[in-house]
Amino acid sequence: MPKKRKNRGRKLGDSGHEKIVQCAQCGRAVPADKAVKVTRWVTPVGGSLGKDLERQGTYISKRLETRYYCISCAVYLGIVRPRSEEERKLRIPINRPYTRRKGSKLPLKFLRV
Ligand SMILES: [Zn+2]
Repeated sequence: MPKKRKNRGRKLGDSGHEKIVQCAQCGRAVPADKAVKVTRWVTPVGGSLGKDLERQGTYISKRLETRYYCISCAVYLGIVRPRSEEERKLRIPINRPYTRRKGSKLPLKFLRV
């Protein structure tokens, strides 16, 4: 049977079972190796108010927040997107899919301008 993806959409390999994580958007239980993991710095004061306060010299605490999303929510939120058959074969990290490094094999037509 033909396969859509070489890794079947997971990083499982032959390890058998992966721990279950919960999607931050919809609450679905997803295997950790299939879920999309997003880690970012979060501040309690956001937007223009936070920028204004930082400009005035106020220290605003930040914390690192890790969230897991199921594939449906990751696509809906624009973190990942469906790719063509040709594009799926390229090994591109999720967090920076459009950067072009020196010696990159990524064709120019896949870059967002
Ligand atoms: Zn979800």
